Amino acid sequence: MAAIEIDHLVKQYPNGFKGVNDVSLNIADGEFVILVGPSGCGKSTLLRMIVGLEDITSGELRIDGKRVNEKAPRERNLSMVFQNYALYPHLSVRENIAFPLRLKKDVPEEEIRRRVDEAAGLLELGELLERKPAQLSGGQRQRVAMGRAIVRQADAFLFDEPLSNLDAKLRGQMRSEISRMQRRLGTTTVYVTHDQTEAMTLGDRVAVLRKGILQQVASPRELYEQP
Ligand code: ADP
Ligand code: ADP
Repeated sequence: MAAIEIDHLVKQYPNGFKGVNDVSLNIADGEFVILVGPSGCGKSTLLRMIVGLEDITSGELRIDGKRVNEKAPRERNLSMVFQNYALYPHLSVRENIAFPLRLKKDVPEEEIRRRVDEAAGLLELGELLERKPAQLSGGQRQRVAMGRAIVRQADAFLFDEPLSNLDAKLRGQMRSEISRMQRRLGTTTVYVTHDQTEAMTLGDRVAVLRKGILQQVASPRELYEQP
């Protein structure tokens, strides 16, 4: 687990446009922060800067107190779940979840098995471990993608609209699962969404971004009760 300190972060494009404009936000160890705002306001860019997929123009990003601006994504030990999660079609659910651990090359087989079983237990995938992605429903596939994200025991999770491709019923189910999983693991989480219900129910705090500027940070209750 880790605190994430976002300190005057700026992302400026070659054309001069600032997609993220002087954003500062301290996220506590174990906190669940929701990032909302209209399309194009810089949510994805901010997430990608945190995870290391996008260069930082200026400002400072600290994880666990250490500056990580120039660190490669793999050195940041964060885990990102995208909207368009891609599972490996030829691999079983077990191997899809195990994949990030196999990449590390130094995790013993026994521990891979234990950690995959643990992640599958949390996400109720235990019965499906030997199936291939084509034999799963959309919701089950999204859970496998989550499994792959949590198996690494990353210091923080970054979610980019992970439920937006699911139907309303599944979204509701996955919402409770994500909430339960985050509480059980206590892992620092930044979660981008368009969905009002997710914004109001999932997080400890909601950060509102508009045109690259952080407009407001408040608890869901404070946001809801404001005139
Ligand atoms: P969101 O995730 O909130 O929809 P994004 O982070 O994807 O927003 O985009 C932030 C803004 O940056 C958008 O207005 C987008 O058009 C702009 N943008 C993204 N890439 C570039 C680029 N290479 N040059 C100029 N503007 C860009
Ligand atoms: P996503 O929403 O998945 O982040 P986008 O459609 O916003 O993807 O962006 C796709 C690609 O196009 C990215 O590489 C981004 O940098 C680039 N891009 C987005 N908006 C602009 C823009 N206004 N000008 C130039 N490039 C852009």
